[in-house]
Amino acid sequence: MPRVPVVDQETCIGCETCTLICPEVFRMTETGEAHHDHKSEVYDPLGAPEEKIEEAMDNCPVACIFWGD
Ligand code: SF4
Repeated sequence: MPRVPVVDQETCIGCETCTLICPEVFRMTETGEAHHDHKSEVYDPLGAPEEKIEEAMDNCPVACIFWGD
């Protein structure tokens, strides 16, 4: 089974780095009522090779992307 990335949106600061590195998997979403409260979300967990997803993980400044089940 391929591993699936998960974003901890509580920790995500919305810097957009992961969506720039790996737009096939991550995109920005607005979760809260405040307009600035945008976060990354995983919309296609199998959309890119694991190495590319790991590059996004490695470059997340708050390390809030991890492998889930
Ligand atoms: S790189 Fe990390 S902090 Fe930045 S948008 Fe992605 S998940 Fe959020």
